[in-house]
Amino acid sequence: MSITVAIDIGGTHIRVAAYEPESITPIAQTRVRSLADQPGVFDRLVKAIESIWPREKVDSIGIASPGPLDPHTGTILDTPNIKEWINFPVGPKLSECFGVPVYLDNDANMAGLAEWKYGAGIGHHDLVYLTISTGIGGGVITNNHLLQGSRGMGAELGHMTVDPNGPPCGCGCNGHIESFSSGTAIARYVNDQLNAGQKSTLQSQPVVTTVQIAEAALQGDVLAISAFERAAYYLGIAVANYLAIFDPSILVFGGGVSQVGDLLFKPFETSLRKHVFHPHYLDDLIITKASLGDDAGLLGALALAHSMGVI
Ligand SMILES: [Zn+2]
Repeated sequence: MSITVAIDIGGTHIRVAAYEPESITPIAQTRVRSLADQPGVFDRLVKAIESIWPREKVDSIGIASPGPLDPHTGTILDTPNIKEWINFPVGPKLSECFGVPVYLDNDANMAGLAEWKYGAGIGHHDLVYLTISTGIGGGVITNNHLLQGSRGMGAELGHMTVDPNGPPCGCGCNGHIESFSSGTAIARYVNDQLNAGQKSTLQSQPVVTTVQIAEAALQGDVLAISAFERAAYYLGIAVANYLAIFDPSILVFGGGVSQVGDLLFKPFETSLRKHVFHPHYLDDLIITKASLGDDAGLLGALALAHSMGVI
């Protein structure tokens, strides 16, 4: 019996877990602070792996990491989350340390892969996963394969342009869907409207967050409701585009902003129906929430390591 080690590298924590074959319950796991803006992230990662390294044979290591990255070479390109990792070959370096193959892909792709293999998307052949939190990330399964692309940079669904004259995106471009519908974008819109003098119960709050906006919207606050309607309108445009490209049978939504439910998804579905190329895309289309929560990155890394060679 051989063991697979899965790693989820996040901006605040690194999680490492070891799994027996056919199991998604770890036999050992640990979580350490990544301290991503300080030197020594790689050393902390190695120590965390060593702390759970099993006595049994390990067959491979899978990693979910913030991108952009190149899964074909196991290299982190220039993730804003970890300052010292620029063109950093984390895969080959770990492979040298531990003597096993190491497979790497970005956290959103890994969450999509995990939801397909172990979560909300089990049994589907074509799945589009979107995580809506501070940013927007995506993962695509097409005909039972994880879409990676020739450079490993496929499925960057958050950076699809929905209005070239739109607000600046975290990536520097204008009008990407992330700049309209992420939690950051929703809060920015509300703050801009408040600064412009629009009346709202949120005026009394020193800093307005997405959670506060959702609470205000549920109390009937017009500005808060309109902020989600605006985010949902653009999200409908983006997802209509994804349907035209990938034609999935299921859309899986993860991330904190997705938890607001009908505030976002009712107007989203209206916009999606309006913008979709053909209503046939919506026949039997399942729109659902992700089911794996914080474990999605780890389980995606596990699935990647298990399936290398066949995906
Ligand atoms: Zn962007």
